[in-house]
Formats: sequence, structure tokens, C-alpha cells
Amino acid sequence: MNRQSHTDEPGGTSLDLATVRSLFPCLQQQIHGNPLVYLDSAATTQKPISVLEAMDGYYREYCSNIHRGIHTLSERATAKYEDVRNKVAALLRAPDPRSVVFTSGTTEAINLVARTIGRERVGSGDEVLISAMEHHANIVPWQMLCEEQGATLRVIPCSDEGDLILDDLVDLISEKTRIVAIGHVSNAIGTVNDIKRIIHSAREMGALTVVDAAQSVPHMNIDVEDLGCDFLAFSGHKVYGPTGSGVLWGRLELLEAMKPWQGGGDMIRTVSFEKTTYADVPLKFEAGTPDIAAVIGLGAALDFVNEIGLDAIYAHEKELLDEAVAKLDQVSGVQIVGRPNQRASSISFVLDGVHPHDVGTILDQKGVAVRAGHHCAMPLMKRFGLVATIRASFGVYSESEDVDSLVEAIDEVKVIFR
Ligand code: PLP
Repeated sequence: MNRQSHTDEPGGTSLDLATVRSLFPCLQQQIHGNPLVYLDSAATTQKPISVLEAMDGYYREYCSNIHRGIHTLSERATAKYEDVRNKVAALLRAPDPRSVVFTSGTTEAINLVARTIGRERVGSGDEVLISAMEHHANIVPWQMLCEEQGATLRVIPCSDEGDLILDDLVDLISEKTRIVAIGHVSNAIGTVNDIKRIIHSAREMGALTVVDAAQSVPHMNIDVEDLGCDFLAFSGHKVYGPTGSGVLWGRLELLEAMKPWQGGGDMIRTVSFEKTTYADVPLKFEAGTPDIAAVIGLGAALDFVNEIGLDAIYAHEKELLDEAVAKLDQVSGVQIVGRPNQRASSISFVLDGVHPHDVGTILDQKGVAVRAGHHCAMPLMKRFGLVATIRASFGVYSESEDVDSLVEAIDEVKVIFR
């Protein structure tokens, strides 16, 4: 794939967008007679041909179960599957691939932590701290844990601008705080949170830290050692990989000390009716046949991302986000929700006098795919006094023309509702 140099910006790079876009079959279509303008990458990204071919190749050429077979196909599948673990470790700058557990997605990864070490560490009277802008996947598992253990869920508040208010962090994190679980980037309003600062404060008080990186891994370089977190979760399908693939990274010593959560094949060393002994990490947490094709597809997705480079992807998307904010600000009746210090991935807005669902439906008629709703962040919607917003979110294949199409389509919505 080509990457063109920006001559006017020293050290900068820009994408060869035409080539990038040509790699995504799903983008090459018309919706209701209009070219598809896909602005819903925060929900799931489109998949490049290399990912589709990697999955197809597994099913056509070496379809077999992993870890168990001694035949050639099984050895090939196992090697491919395990190689993706190395790729994920490299992506997260994790020193040991054994600290990478494959899950079905971010949701399963967070539930795994809550139901294993969460149950061990959180007891009656303890506290779990999250933030006001979490996705439900980083609220409900902790709420369930707190209810079960008699603990309290506390929340870092959010400012009118859509930034977390960290001034009172010392009051929010105490010796009672056992777990701090924070989203890196808000899927609903695009805020990039200062998670390093939060992790630092949590560690000082001896709390475990969990990062929901579902919306950051697709857009920026992550270094788990530098962040200093204990666990980090992301979903393959938001980073150009298949649905059904996801990752929980955890500190090796913690994973080794944790009890497994699901029992079954592949996670054991020996089984008798009297006693079962467990496999080493990470297999201890991967009971049953995983979604092998999805993991192999995730490997191809990470190759795709690496070939372009996350710095180039971030720079490209930032340019588009800035352009979109500027252009949406020019549209009368549009109110952008949240003006965070740093934004990635998404912009949320409302249009005066028109329900977000109606806006989304009419935009779809124009071929513009956005998300309208609460974005699985109902408490954040409530914080802003809203029940829903319209969200435009970007990926590596998004282009300036997409922003123009969005603005034109909103103008048409306004004409209809005038
Ligand atoms: N966390 C965030 C910030 C998200 O945006 C999402 C999905 O939208 C999730 C968690 C849940 O991801 P999944 O449904 O892939 O498990």
C-alpha cells in the first residue's frame, strides 16, 4: 500500500486515500441510489480485503481446530492463531505475548476481569471507580460486581465541555478503591481521557486499573507499560478486524494468580472427577473452541494497520475531525455535544427541533450512515440532558468528501422539517 509524504509538513505523512478506500469492498456501493458515506466506524469498521482473504483462507485451506490436533492442518491453524498473539503484544508494546488473552470483544474482556479478580479484590464496603462517560460495557459489569459484593460504584464527573473533571481525583480514589475502570476514548462524544493521570493516582492507592481501549486502539499508539495499567481491553471489529475477535491484555503476574472464569476444553492440564488442574496463561482463560477465523482475521487487520501506521491514521483522522467540527459549527441548528480538549474517533451532535432518529433515517436515505441513539452511554446522555444524539465517526478510509456529504444531507433534513 502506498503512503505519500507530505512535503509541506516536516515529518508528516498523508494517506493515499484512493488506494486505501479501494481495499474496502463494502465501501464500493450505493445506498438508496447514492454512494455510501460510511460515518459509523466507532460502531464497527469496514474490513479490508486482506482480512476477508485471511478468514477465507483459513476456512478453505487449513480449517481445523487448534492446540489439540497433531495433524498438519491443526498445526498450521495453531501457528497462525498464536502468531496473532505476538502481533497483539507488539501492537500494545506488551513484553510477553502470554499476557494476551483472546476474547469475543471488549465486553467479554471486561466481564472476565470483573468476574475473576474483581470478585477476589472487591468486598463489602469497597469501591469501584468508573467515569461519567463510560460505555455500558464498562458500567454494567462493575455495577453487577458491586451489587454482588456489597460495594459502591463511584463516578468521575464530566464537565460541560465533555472532559473528565480530575481535580477531585484525590477525594474519589481512596484506600477503599479497589478497581478503577476507565474508557480511554469516549465512543459517544470522542473525548480522549487523560488515563495516564488516572492510572497513576489509582496505583498510588493500590487500586487495580482497567482500561477500556475499544475506541483508542483503532486510532492511536498504545503502550501498556508506559500507561502503567493492569488490564486493557479492545475489540477486533473496531480495528478493521472481524466481529467475534477481542483482546484482554493483563499483567502477567496478575493473570497467573487469577482463577479461570469459564471451565471446559483447552483450559485444563489434567481432569479427573476429583480434581482439575488448569493450563498456564493465556489458555487458562480461553475455554472451548475460540473463533479461530476471527482471530486470524484480526492478525491481518493488525498487519493492515501497521502498514499504514497509527501515527498516520491518527493525523488523518484528526484533520477530518477538525474539519467536521468546523463545518458542523457553520450549520445553523446543529449543536455539537462536547468540546473536549482532545478528540478522537467521534463527533456527537443534535439538530434543533428534529429527533436524532429522524435525522439518522433521512441521512440514510442520502447514503450517509451515522449512528443515532444513546450510543450505549445512557448516563452520559443524561449528563447532557439528552436522550440521544447523532454521531459521526471516522476511520482510516474516511475522506473530506464524507464531511461535505454529511453537511449537505443535514441541510436537506432541515428543508424537510422546516
Ligand atoms: N467500550 C467502548 C468504548 C465501546 O465503544 C464499545 C462498543 O461500541 C464497547 C466497549 C463494547 O465493545 P464490544 O461490543 O465489541 O464488546
